[in-house]
Amino acid sequence: MGLSGLEIYKLLPKTNCKKCNFPTCLAFALALAKKSTDLAKCPYLSDEAKMALESASQPPIKLITVGVGEQALSVGNETVLFRHEEKFHHPAGVGLIVEDTLSEAQLAEFVEVIKKLQFERVGQFLSPGLIAIKNTSGKSQDFASCIKYLKANSNLNLVLMSGDPDCMRAGLEVCKEKKPLIFSAEEKNLDAFIEIAKEAKAPLAVSSTELEKLSELAKKAIDAGCHDLVLNVLKDRLSEKIESLTQIRRLALKKNFRTFGFPTISVIEKKDVLFDAMSAGALMAKYASIILLDKPTLGTVLSLLTLRQNIYSDPQKPLQVEPKVYPIGSPNEQSPLLVTTNFSLTYYTVLSEVESSKVSSYILSVDTEGMSVLTAWAAEKFTPEKINESMKKATLESLLAHKVLIIPGYVAVMSADLEEQSGWKILVGPREASGISPFLKNFNKPR
Ligand code: SF4
Repeated sequence: MGLSGLEIYKLLPKTNCKKCNFPTCLAFALALAKKSTDLAKCPYLSDEAKMALESASQPPIKLITVGVGEQALSVGNETVLFRHEEKFHHPAGVGLIVEDTLSEAQLAEFVEVIKKLQFERVGQFLSPGLIAIKNTSGKSQDFASCIKYLKANSNLNLVLMSGDPDCMRAGLEVCKEKKPLIFSAEEKNLDAFIEIAKEAKAPLAVSSTELEKLSELAKKAIDAGCHDLVLNVLKDRLSEKIESLTQIRRLALKKNFRTFGFPTISVIEKKDVLFDAMSAGALMAKYASIILLDKPTLGTVLSLLTLRQNIYSDPQKPLQVEPKVYPIGSPNEQSPLLVTTNFSLTYYTVLSEVESSKVSSYILSVDTEGMSVLTAWAAEKFTPEKINESMKKATLESLLAHKVLIIPGYVAVMSADLEEQSGWKILVGPREASGISPFLKNFNKPR
């Protein structure tokens, strides 16, 4: 909400009638400012007040969706400049550019590469979300055939890259039901592209080298009824691009500048592997909502997706796995049982070491609110009581014929207490995860 509680209060009837379930109009205004209630709860608002409050209650950056169904990519709707203030909500889209001059065999190769660009990291599945088809040929037919091929062979969302209205129409003809992003309208083709986007009901990217001009073009598109926009600022130098994207974000959030209230897009043209990867990372941090990469390496995509996972996680809520007992490999009743915390990074580090040992085991993950071993121990979240409680919940007797638990070496100090509380034999494991594999190989079953 762009208005403060007092500004909202000035627009309310001030009768304190309580129909909204708040004791006073001021209390209702303050709740509205915090977005914890709904405007519709006050039945006595004048039309004028309703209009003013409704427009102020629109998100400062509109949520724009590219594609349809479960695979669709939604970007925007961010509310803060810095992630420590709250969190960033909609992870940036990462797309790969492909040219429409490629042969079918080359396109098939491209599709195979895209399929390989999928990773699992700390329990989350990471992959690019977009294919951007570039109309390098300048021909409608080639553009349309390339789109048709990729639509049939990949379920990723599409970006159609052409400055030519005829080519764009031909491209949309074969994929408009996928609601691709139309990239992009500039001053010279704006009118034609607005009509095309309206007809296809697809989002439209608007490009300019200057922020003032970009705002002008966006306003023209909005006034013409094109409300789903993505902003593209064309700057050669990375520093200028970051500065412009920061100004767009700042103006949208702090000044409620409506023509900049949209997500942004940046294209990384192929120059140098390291520079491209660094540019993409810097732009993702500030503040590109979609990044299109031209012939990136596997390493660039992997590092960008990993960075995205970090930028778009909640800084106040560490990534966590479900606290429970996990079978690794094909464990039986004689297999080792290790305990660790439910901080994703810790759990997956232990998991990969157990897997590489090739000793089928169980890992008991204890709910430490996402803290790592030593932090959780210091914060009293990984104590003998908590571990004992988790062991009971996991009904380990039904899985194991022995009563031996391996604890991390860093918390060896709790072994006597835990042994007393649980009645299990406690084995102190290695301090570092790298020691797990040799430790497990020497694990002598029940003692
Ligand atoms: Fe005030 Fe409207 Fe709530 Fe009545 S319903 S207290 S007028 S805000």
